[in-house]
Amino acid sequence: MGGASMIKRIRFVSAIFALIVSPVIALAKPAPLHVLAFYSTNVEGDHVDFALQALKFFADAAKRDNFQFESTTNWDDLSSQRLTGVQVVMWLNDSAHSDQQRAAFQQYMEHGGGWFGFHFAAYNDGGTNWPWFVQFLGGAVFYGNSWPPLPAILDVDDKTSPLTKHLTAHFLSPANEWYSWQPNPRANKAVKVLLTLDPSNFPLGFKDTLTGGDIPVVWTNTKYRMIYMNMGHGDRIFSDDNQNQMFKDALRWLAQTPMKK
Ligand code: ZN
Repeated sequence: MGGASMIKRIRFVSAIFALIVSPVIALAKPAPLHVLAFYSTNVEGDHVDFALQALKFFADAAKRDNFQFESTTNWDDLSSQRLTGVQVVMWLNDSAHSDQQRAAFQQYMEHGGGWFGFHFAAYNDGGTNWPWFVQFLGGAVFYGNSWPPLPAILDVDDKTSPLTKHLTAHFLSPANEWYSWQPNPRANKAVKVLLTLDPSNFPLGFKDTLTGGDIPVVWTNTKYRMIYMNMGHGDRIFSDDNQNQMFKDALRWLAQTPMKK
């Protein structure tokens, strides 16, 4: 066999090989990020305002960064069927209510699902009756809130986190209703707090006042692929570019954090 026909044969074999292998490579590529946001329109007006702004914010990010962003007000979409292929579930100021929705969410999170919760999404008190969700949050139970909504200085607990790398050590976060938690999620060793209310804010609020103490604002329970952010009240939340960057970084971080089994 001459050199030329050998080269031809190699080319031919390579072409066949590429045809066989390329679909496999295509399948091995990770699926594009798929986010499903849940919200409600029959809740506190300021909570709806935030949710609608968040939908626009993340839909714009999805267009720019080429991921799939869907939203629903039907909380029965918390079902194994609907959540198949969804990498991150976002809760914009509401939570699962029925036993069925709660069970589907628990199943999803315990099998590697991702959760991005804002503000009222983590609200729970003596009447919530969902112990699994409390431990999912790292033990945090709603204790108090500030009123009216005010900006607050936040301290970055961990500058090395991919979520906080664009933030200065202390920054002014736009007007929000701030919550305190008792028990404090920081007491849980599996919890990593990323942002905390700076002591200089206190007393924070006029009608309802947070008087002091350690009040985490953003944290993750490392036992799950989850992040909670207390921001989410009113129409000022997306008015700070650095904080906006953190929201986007958090979504990317959730998407890239390995699925836990
Ligand atoms: Zn609120």
